[in-house]
Amino acid sequence: MINRLTIPKVVSPLGSVTQWTCDTCNDPITNPEMAVVIGKRDSNDQVLGWKIVHKQCDPSSGQVDSFSVELTRYLGDDGLSTLLSLLSPGPLKGGNAVVPADLNEFVDLARRLHIPHYEEARTRFDEDSVRDELFEAAEGFPYMTDTLSRIAQGKIG
Ligand SMILES: [Zn+2]
Repeated sequence: MINRLTIPKVVSPLGSVTQWTCDTCNDPITNPEMAVVIGKRDSNDQVLGWKIVHKQCDPSSGQVDSFSVELTRYLGDDGLSTLLSLLSPGPLKGGNAVVPADLNEFVDLARRLHIPHYEEARTRFDEDSVRDELFEAAEGFPYMTDTLSRIAQGKIG
């Protein structure tokens, strides 16, 4: 007799992406409690230069114009919601304050935090072979998790 066990899917409150590369030292970030999302406030109080770094690798720590938030605040469903609040205060807060100074840069950060395999694949985004192969792809295709996994594994490009 085969005993079939149903293994419950464990969903981490911090989401499915669990490792990043520190933008300062290039070593892995494996504990999000020991890392921060940083940026710099411009003259309009908007933030640019988003990076993910170990807390000890934060070059802007303590500077007046620095933006620094523990990585855990932007992970999981609540983290994604918090990230989106930086783009739009939404109907309950009102107003139209937009924190990111550059949308493309901010979406890169959001993908790094929430899209599986994006962090590993993005190290190859500058390679001509990868760009050539995906140049004519449909708009979302390059950032689908399977495509990103294949980029990271060298199966594309
Ligand atoms: Zn580091």
